[in-house]
Amino acid sequence: MRKILLVILVVVVVLAATALAILTQTPKTFTENLTGRKICTRPFTPQFNDGPYYMGPFFDDHFHLPPPPVGPTQKMMGIPMPSLEKDVTIEQMLCHFDEEKTIGAIAFYTSSTFPFLPDVFYHNKKMINAVNLKQQAGNRLYLFLEPYGFNAAKVDSLLAANPGVFDGIGELALYTPGSLKPDDPSWMAIYAVADKYHIPVMFHPDMNEMQNVINVLKAFPNVKFMVHGYQLSSDIAGLDKLMADYPNVYYSIDSATLYSYRGGLVIDTEDQFVSDFKRDFTKNINEQLAIWKPLIEKYPTRFMWGTDRFIKWHYSEKISRLFEEFARAFTGRLPKNLQEKYAYQNIEALFN
Ligand SMILES: [Zn+2]
Repeated sequence: MRKILLVILVVVVVLAATALAILTQTPKTFTENLTGRKICTRPFTPQFNDGPYYMGPFFDDHFHLPPPPVGPTQKMMGIPMPSLEKDVTIEQMLCHFDEEKTIGAIAFYTSSTFPFLPDVFYHNKKMINAVNLKQQAGNRLYLFLEPYGFNAAKVDSLLAANPGVFDGIGELALYTPGSLKPDDPSWMAIYAVADKYHIPVMFHPDMNEMQNVINVLKAFPNVKFMVHGYQLSSDIAGLDKLMADYPNVYYSIDSATLYSYRGGLVIDTEDQFVSDFKRDFTKNINEQLAIWKPLIEKYPTRFMWGTDRFIKWHYSEKISRLFEEFARAFTGRLPKNLQEKYAYQNIEALFN
């Protein structure tokens, strides 16, 4: 009798463990074969006659990879976020990169695994979508693991179980309501994991968090931190001092800084955004250059270009053309010897 009970118990335990193991697996969503993909081309045809234009390659240092259509749709400022394969495909994204001469991109990767499961399930956990994507897209995509819901131990386990798949950690969107401070102990523990794996971290602080940012940079002098956002750039003198004092901080001058239109980049329709963008094109470039050129000249290796694409229409052909032209016009007005650094070399150097 006892033996039977024992056998039943063992069977139940094995079944439960198998069920949980299956639960932690993510459905495979990247089925495209990108290796034989046709390369897209698009001659640069300016719409604004706003040269001189920089004509070289770019590296997009701030690109949000839509998550696979698993689980509830995420929202930002009330706007539903796109899903990969449903709203935009990897092939379309790579095609725009070809057309823009974007040779690589930092792609923020949201895991669709289940963060609430105990740590033990994260040992040897292959993130099949990320592995597959990395194999298919190679060095066009530098995947950054978004650690939402994962504590430092789980992030550590995921990085250990997926060697060579993730090139960094981020974005930590710390400006959203209810976010912890950048130097909260739980984030500090995650930066320690980045330190252990020698990978950079990208975070976006909220208003009036300069001292918290300083605490982070000071505590981890060997970790390269990438930051961005109007919250930091609204205090240019403070940002200047930050760059002077901490050689481990890098700043991304991307859409969220250059033309966020007070949230219009998120909440506007594509048509509304495009019409504002076109109306202000030259004025915007001149205003932004007045702010950023002196800083780029002062810290020539630590400012980088990015697009911050993450809303459904951000992945369109129209936006690809507009952002490309803005970037070429902005970069083309920088001193010649700094153009390639800002466009792609600084971010490449960060990984070496
Ligand atoms: Zn951000």
